[in-house]
Amino acid sequence: VMKVPRTPRHVFLILLASSVRAQVNPEMCRYPLGMAGGQIQDEDISASSQWSDSTAARFDNGDGDGAWCPDIMSEPGALKEYLQVDLRSLHFITLVGTQGRHADGMGNEFAQRYRIKYSRDGSNWVGWHDRRGGQVIEGNSNAYDVVLKDLEPPIIARFVRFMPVTDHSMIVCMRVELYGCEWLDGLMSYNIPDGHQMIHRGLDVYFNDSVYDGAIGLGQLTDGTWGLDDFLHSHIYSMWPGYDYVGWNNKSFPKGYVEMIFEFDHVRNFTSMKVHCNNMFSRGVSMFRQASCFFRSGSEWEADPVTFRPTSDRASQIARFVTVPLGDRTASAIKCRFHFADLWMLFSEVAFQSGSAVYNTSLTPRDDPTHKVDDSNTRILIGCLVAIIAILMTIIVIILWRQVWQKMLEKASRRMLDDELTARLAVQTQAFASHHSSLSSDAGSTSNSTYERIFPLCADYQEPSRLIRKLPEFTQFTEHLGRIKAQCHQCYGAPHYAEADIISLQETSDSNTYSIAAVHMNLFAGTDSSMREFPRDKLTFKEKLGEGQFGEVHLCEAEGMLDFLEEDLSVERNDELPLLVAVKTLREDANKNARNDFLKEIRIMSRLRDPNIVRLLAVCVDTDPLCMITEYMENGDLNQFLCSFCPLLFSYSKLIGMAAQIASGMRYLSFLNFVHRDLATRNCLVGKNYTIKIADFGMSRNLYRGDYYRIQGRAVLPIRWMSWESILLGKFTMASDVWAFGVTLWEILTLCEEQPYSQLSDEQVIENTGEFFRDQGKQVYLPRPHRCPERVYNDLMLSCWRRNAKQRPSFQEIHAQLVESMA
Ligand code: AMP
Repeated sequence: VMKVPRTPRHVFLILLASSVRAQVNPEMCRYPLGMAGGQIQDEDISASSQWSDSTAARFDNGDGDGAWCPDIMSEPGALKEYLQVDLRSLHFITLVGTQGRHADGMGNEFAQRYRIKYSRDGSNWVGWHDRRGGQVIEGNSNAYDVVLKDLEPPIIARFVRFMPVTDHSMIVCMRVELYGCEWLDGLMSYNIPDGHQMIHRGLDVYFNDSVYDGAIGLGQLTDGTWGLDDFLHSHIYSMWPGYDYVGWNNKSFPKGYVEMIFEFDHVRNFTSMKVHCNNMFSRGVSMFRQASCFFRSGSEWEADPVTFRPTSDRASQIARFVTVPLGDRTASAIKCRFHFADLWMLFSEVAFQSGSAVYNTSLTPRDDPTHKVDDSNTRILIGCLVAIIAILMTIIVIILWRQVWQKMLEKASRRMLDDELTARLAVQTQAFASHHSSLSSDAGSTSNSTYERIFPLCADYQEPSRLIRKLPEFTQFTEHLGRIKAQCHQCYGAPHYAEADIISLQETSDSNTYSIAAVHMNLFAGTDSSMREFPRDKLTFKEKLGEGQFGEVHLCEAEGMLDFLEEDLSVERNDELPLLVAVKTLREDANKNARNDFLKEIRIMSRLRDPNIVRLLAVCVDTDPLCMITEYMENGDLNQFLCSFCPLLFSYSKLIGMAAQIASGMRYLSFLNFVHRDLATRNCLVGKNYTIKIADFGMSRNLYRGDYYRIQGRAVLPIRWMSWESILLGKFTMASDVWAFGVTLWEILTLCEEQPYSQLSDEQVIENTGEFFRDQGKQVYLPRPHRCPERVYNDLMLSCWRRNAKQRPSFQEIHAQLVESMA
């Protein structure tokens, strides 16, 4: 087995980003290349002839049968027969193995001797010979044993042929294996001047390239063998002096340099070249003074060479690799001129490092598990990669672990909510209860809330939240309550929407909620073909009715609307006059979200048709500004209507009649499984003769957007109308609409004199919600309005606020009860 000189190992700095590779190390480069392992495919094994399947020419598979057995009888001339292996890319092959065929004692065929031919391109073939020129390799002596032979020198080839050397009397069968590693240099051949002969103290020293494989052009400079410091000695036993080196004498090169040409398998991106030089200056040998390398990708040599001057070393006579940086030049051939620094220049090895990106464009790529890169660098590289993978895995595990923990904490926080609220609210509710009795006797509101209605889609809609962030100590109610005028009263001016940090509004475990959501999706999907475009120029502005989140609402005359609708709108028809309509316009500066939401509200409304739901008549969406045209409700919204007129105008039965109409409209929505989510007097419109219609589907639209189902942050919510589960759990259902209806009924029966829980701040409303959740009898209910009979309060209003959503009445039942109570 070949010995490699014990040159001190380089410490390789492997930069992961770089693809610089060191030269091949024959000691390490001894991997089976896949005959036995199967990595060499059947189609890559061929033979000149055979009487047994050549693809079975793999090492023992147990029964000892199956081998390549050339058909020598039909084709006399043993050396013509070969078994060929195509490795698909250049490999550095250091070892071969052969085995015969025994077929469990039935056979006894093997190759006693054989030769090897190889080729790098598939057309030019050379016979391998050892360092002394011998070509025949001693093979097997029985049909069983595997015999391994070091190839000295190793070969660099893609194609290898095993050629049994036999006489005609013997039947031969072979199974083979190749050992080595991939040849990453890609060097196909080199062309160098013949080496010279030195006479040193009467001793002939031959610096010729003794293993040069001529026609295909590689030899000692690529045999993986590095010369010793003393060139007279060779690490290969009994070789002549100077054997390891190819060397030249200065005198034969008048230009002062030796020119070498290196040809590669394809265009590569060269980072460096390593030249192993002798530096025995005491005998007139020095490493080169300068190297100038030219590059060629096509047919012409590029003009600008890379020039490198190593620092000369007259201190140490150690032979060494000199690295010549090649500046990432692209080439398929390199011509280097090595300038003499002394009388002699001796090289024993040349290796090239090139970028893997280029390497990957190899002519013969193959998904080859035998793609084994030689030497310790590979192992360092693999080590680094393993370390990186380990670090990444650790990071992933930590991230997953954190997520699991977050989930567990979330769950725990929900469980703790119970205790937290109990602990914090217990004290406060006591205080609240004592204040409440005194406050509830007062009317009016001093809610000095600075909250204002904020369009829920705006950026501050969601912020990181914890549990209720602020559960402040109960504030001193130092001032409160306005005066109710004797005959007419003021509307409460406080906003109805609270910007609140809501306790994790989470997805509900109640599958019912989602099924409702699913129905909604269908309801909201698509466009309504019945909603037609109304000619904009037929609208005549009359006055501004109000302003909503999308923009202004105008009263307009719509010329020809009745004909346009082709139906009787059940309005007092006066064909002479244009129909009055309310036109809601999307403001000019609306962003894309608002625009989409406006269109979605159109889509929702276009599907709703009920006497107690405001009807969408037509749209103007072909051009901006987008408009929706709804029926005009002469008396505006119910909140303003109730509080703006003298209470004496509203008898109990009128009020209950209004509530019944709202219940009827909600009953219709409940048939559709449609959750309104913002039912309140402010969102009901009043027409002629106390007709009430439900409007404002803004919140439902948000339901469609899905962001109401999972709110984890600051939300703008009508918390005084919301059920405890909507606030605490983010659950919006028909039952939470029923809760809101109870509050709406309360508003109606108090004539909107005050806001619900007007004496409570938003925080306290949320605290009270916690009490509903705790259900320990500490929750505070809206008090019975004085116009409200006990029976209606107890049987209807309070039933809407039952903790268990399933125990709340349906709108069908509510409607029936209200109708009944009017009688
Ligand atoms: P909105 O954008 O739906 O919140 O409407 C804003 C205001 O415009 C409401 O508070 C009403 O006073 C008024 N308004 C909206 N729609 C109508 C309508 N169909 N008839 C009369 N007034 C309306």
